[in-house]
Amino acid sequence: ARPQSGDPHVGAVSLRGVTKTFGEFDAVKDLDLDVRPGEFLSMLGPSGSGKTTVLRMIAGFEDATSGAISLNGVDVTRVPPHRRQVNTVFQDYALFPHLTIEENVGYGLRVRGEGRAARRERVGSALEQVRLAHVAQRLPHQLSGGQRQRIALARALILRPQVLLLDEPLGALDKQLREQMQIELKQIQREVGITFIFVTHDQEEALTLSDRVAVFNGGRIEQIGTPREVYEYPQTEFVARFLGLSNLLPADAAERIAGRREALSIRPERVRVLGPDEHARPGEVTVAGVVAEVVYTGPSTRYLVDVEGGLQLIAERPNAHHPSAAEAVERGAAVRVGWLADHAARLP
Ligand code: ATP
Repeated sequence: ARPQSGDPHVGAVSLRGVTKTFGEFDAVKDLDLDVRPGEFLSMLGPSGSGKTTVLRMIAGFEDATSGAISLNGVDVTRVPPHRRQVNTVFQDYALFPHLTIEENVGYGLRVRGEGRAARRERVGSALEQVRLAHVAQRLPHQLSGGQRQRIALARALILRPQVLLLDEPLGALDKQLREQMQIELKQIQREVGITFIFVTHDQEEALTLSDRVAVFNGGRIEQIGTPREVYEYPQTEFVARFLGLSNLLPADAAERIAGRREALSIRPERVRVLGPDEHARPGEVTVAGVVAEVVYTGPSTRYLVDVEGGLQLIAERPNAHHPSAAEAVERGAAVRVGWLADHAARLP
């Protein structure tokens, strides 16, 4: 039975001990995952880490080799795709080229045998949702890439799925359009209140869009948490490296510098270059070094600083806050760099 709205399980997805084996190869290994109702969850990871396979198992296009999958609190492990309350948006849009936008969006309703009047009304409101009511009579080739992407989204939303699966839906767009679409996608998700499970290999995209990010590596989840948690407090070296720049201190170096024998990851924007007369602040760990490189990136400046033990640390600071300080530290300068002990993430 289809769960009623108001049911606290509606929109929840959970995987228990899910493994997917292709031949001898485990693409997904004993995975547990709980997606909350109405959540925007991203699955982030390098190519081949198993994200798409997990998405396809949730949709039912792929059977789990072992383990269980439930949707809305109901076990669907053996339920075929068309009987699951999920819908998928793919990267290649898959619009019918000879049908108008209106016909494309209404296609799923027609297949379900909905009457013309009901179809018109729902197509109209789905197009409003993605802000494209004015292109209803056009053909797909008369739209831009970003517009086609939104039409693909409208076509999925019109079927009122409880969970929407999105496989790199912005992958084909250029950077500028992609960033604009990210913001729109987030707004649309908030408005419709449907659970979104979003696959991407772009870390910035995952951080921008998600309530939580699941970081995949080799068929497993390395870490799951809010964007801030996975970025600021990576629990493994893989997560630290995969999500942006990081200063990785091996345990022996950390012991010399910070006095405790544990590997650390510190984000460059948490590291500051101290002025010649500046002292360490309370709770701050500092180390002496020589500036090897000063890199201007536009919004910020990065300082590559050689410190003891053959280690190079990166300090980054926004240019807006220190318009003149950016010139103050030059290549070759002897400096100290420091960070608050609280801002260093401990790695196992
Ligand atoms: P990408 O970002 O490149 O899409 P992904 O993280 O989504 O990567 P998957 O597509 O889930 O990764 O693939 C995981 C692994 O499983 C890969 O090594 C892939 O080659 C393998 N794989 C996926 N589908 C099949 C299949 N039908 N037969 C055999 N191997 C497969």
